[in-house]
Amino acid sequence: MLDTKSLATALVLILVIGCTLHIVNWRIHRDSVGVKWWALGLAVHTAGLTLSFWENTLAVHDPLCVVAINMLSLCGSLMLVHGTATFAERPFPLSVYLVIGSFSAIGLGWFATVDDSITMRVVVFAASLQLTYLLTLTRLFYIARRDGMASVFVLGTSLSSTMVMMSGLVVWQLMTQPALGSLYDPTPVIPLAMLGLLASESTAIFGYLLLSAGHSQARLERLAHCDALTDLPNRRAFEQEIAQRLNSARKHDRLIALAIFDIDHFKQVNDKHGHDAGDAVLRHLGTVAAQAVRPRDFLARVGGEEFAVIFEVEDAAELVTAANRLRVAVEIERIKLDETEIAVTVSVGAVLAQSVPGLDFGQLYRAADQALYQAKAAGRNQVVVGEVERLELAA
Ligand code: GH3
Ligand code: MG
Ligand code: MG
Repeated sequence: MLDTKSLATALVLILVIGCTLHIVNWRIHRDSVGVKWWALGLAVHTAGLTLSFWENTLAVHDPLCVVAINMLSLCGSLMLVHGTATFAERPFPLSVYLVIGSFSAIGLGWFATVDDSITMRVVVFAASLQLTYLLTLTRLFYIARRDGMASVFVLGTSLSSTMVMMSGLVVWQLMTQPALGSLYDPTPVIPLAMLGLLASESTAIFGYLLLSAGHSQARLERLAHCDALTDLPNRRAFEQEIAQRLNSARKHDRLIALAIFDIDHFKQVNDKHGHDAGDAVLRHLGTVAAQAVRPRDFLARVGGEEFAVIFEVEDAAELVTAANRLRVAVEIERIKLDETEIAVTVSVGAVLAQSVPGLDFGQLYRAADQALYQAKAAGRNQVVVGEVERLELAA
């Protein structure tokens, strides 16, 4: 038979180590409110379980102490829920915590003082914990959507298996020995529950840490692929996207279209209105262009005042129409800055090619740039469709 007291000692030790890890994690992710609540919640939860260990080992059977233990442990769990909800940017209203807290306080108080049933106290406590797990699982769904499945996998698995284990053990206990004398009674269920708790608490500790690591990673990846001024994908993201689209176009025998557009006489805008106004024009242009392209097209800021679009089109005529729609949208949508209105136009260089083996981003880009140069030379504010050298063309 497993020794409950040794298991409880191991659990307290693991929780103390977990608290230390979470305090360090809090120091690393100082700007995240959720991470702070995990560290605090785990500390309160640990305090509750440590007090319970002390109470049971020294056989201090004070009903109020028992209620305090359970409430501390549950408060810690609610703080963990709040941490996860804040982290997911989907907080629960205060009433949710108040309902669970009141349900537990009344139930635990009743069974510790009036009815004196340890079994029912365990049932109330387990039910409250299950609710906190359920709430956390709903928030993991949003975190997975934002940061990816991998970051929520450990915590999600830990919480759902703990829910199954806890329900099974409570039912088993109720069926075999409904009236429990003490948590340290020599029944087969309690040590098993303790062992399960040991596994679930330790995986949950790492599960929360992985959430913050996964979020940092996702945020860095977003930053690495995003242009800070316009919020559009940057050149790195564009090169990755076009490499994928070239592959996919080759596989499905489709055409690939690239357009580069550049603001006409942008230097004059900077000189006349100042660099900040120039930045505002770039932001405005990003928004207008994003609205002018279709969802399946891919728009990016690839240089200072240079943008690029991968158009999904069937033929050259459709490419010219799409590029002109973009050009006209920029021409029409003037930018209003304080008292002044700034009008800008763009020149567009575009190419349409069959994605044959050997065709790469560089060749497409050079060809589109050449077409852009021709559009500038021909008077600006126009679209020129060019050709990709020495490669089979579809247009
Ligand atoms: P063209 O019609 O031939 O394209 O003329 P242009 O004046 O637009 O071209 P040029 O290459 O001479 O000037 C580009 C200007 O774009 C110069 C540079 O200061 C400005 N620029 C590049 N990046 C930024 C930016 O992030 N913010 C601002 N405000 N200006 C930028
Ligand atoms: Mg330029
Ligand atoms: Mg320019």
